[in-house]
Amino acid sequence: MMTIENVTSLVRPNIVSLKPYSSARGEFLGDNKILLDANENPFEMWDMENINRYPDPLQMDVKQRIASIKGIKAEEIFIGNGSDEAVDLIMRCFCEPAIDRIAIFEPTYGMYSVCATVNNIGVEKFLLKDDFGIDADDFLSKVSNSVKVAFICNPNNPTGNIQRIDVIEKILSQFNGLVVVDEAYIDFCSDESVVKLINKYPNLIVIQTFSKAWGLAGARIGLAIANYQVISFLNKIKFPYNVGVPSLQLLRNALKNKSVPRKFIQQIVSEREKLKEKLMQLPFILKVYPSQTNFLLAKTKDAKRIHSYLLENNIVVRNRSHEPLCSNCIRITVGTPAENQILIETLKKLNL
Ligand code: PMP
Repeated sequence: MMTIENVTSLVRPNIVSLKPYSSARGEFLGDNKILLDANENPFEMWDMENINRYPDPLQMDVKQRIASIKGIKAEEIFIGNGSDEAVDLIMRCFCEPAIDRIAIFEPTYGMYSVCATVNNIGVEKFLLKDDFGIDADDFLSKVSNSVKVAFICNPNNPTGNIQRIDVIEKILSQFNGLVVVDEAYIDFCSDESVVKLINKYPNLIVIQTFSKAWGLAGARIGLAIANYQVISFLNKIKFPYNVGVPSLQLLRNALKNKSVPRKFIQQIVSEREKLKEKLMQLPFILKVYPSQTNFLLAKTKDAKRIHSYLLENNIVVRNRSHEPLCSNCIRITVGTPAENQILIETLKKLNL
C-alpha cells in the first residue's frame, strides 16, 4: 500500500523543482477592484459578463460547489479543459519521457495511448479477460518497474462494462504506482464512484467529465479528484487559464440544476435497453454486450459493411473491429428516441 510520500516521490524532479508561472489574477481575487494587472481589455464589448477578463485560474467557486456535492474538499479537485487535459497532465507529471511508461487494459479508451505517445511515454498493454474484466493478478505479476501510472476505464469504453470494486482495490493496494480510474460514464452506471476512496488510497486519481451525463461536451470541462498533494502538482503544471469564462458560467448553471441531468440519464438508460432489444432482433447482430454507459457495443457479422452502409445513410457509428477482443464490433451511442428509431429502421433494410 502506498503512502502519500511514496506517491509524491514519483513526481518528475523537474516538476518538483518547477517555479510555476504566477498569473496576475492568481494574486488578487475579488469584486469591485480596478484591474490593471493582466493586460486585459478594460471594456466589456461583447454580450457576456466578465468575458473581457481572464477566469480565476483555480476556479475556486465552482470547485467549492462540486466539493459540497461530492462530499470532498475543493483542494482535492482539479478542473481541466475536458478530462483529456487531466489524462495528459497526469502523464506529464509522473512519467519521464523515453524512460517511464503507463499501463492500459485493452480494449479501452484510445486517448491514453495517444497521449502517452505524444509525450514519448511507453505503453504497457494488458488484455482484458473474455468477459472484459481486468485480471489483477496477471497485471500485478507482470507489470514492469517503469510503469508509473495504470489507467482503468470504469465503466470501460468501448466495452461498456464495469470492473469489480475488489479488483480495483487490489490494484490500488498492491501496485506501486498511480492508478487512474476514469469514470467518464459513471453517471449511467449502477455502481458507485470510487471518489470515496481517495483518502484510503493516496495513489488513486479519479477522472470524471461533464461531457456525458451532464450534456456539456462542447464546454470542455473535466475533473481529476485525488489527494490534495497530487492535485496541487496538476495545478502547478496546467495552463493558467485552462477553462474559459463561458464554460465556467455554463457549469455554474448546470450545478444549480442537478435534477436536469438526472432526468436525462434515466431517459438515456431506458432508451439504451430498448435499443439493445431491437438490435438483437436483427439477423446480422450476433451479440449486444451488457452496457453500463450511454453506448452499446455490438458484435456483428460484418462491422465494416454495416459501418459504411450507415454512413451512406447519414448515420455515424464507430467500427471498433481493430481493437483487441472486438473483431466485427460496432459501438453505437444512444441517441434521442427519434434517432434510435431511424437507426433501427435503416438497419432493418440492410440485407446481410
Ligand atoms: N474518458 C473516456 C473513457 C472517454 O470516453 C472520453 C470521451 N469520449 C473522455 C475520457 C474524454 O472526455 P472529455 O475530454 O470530453 O472530458
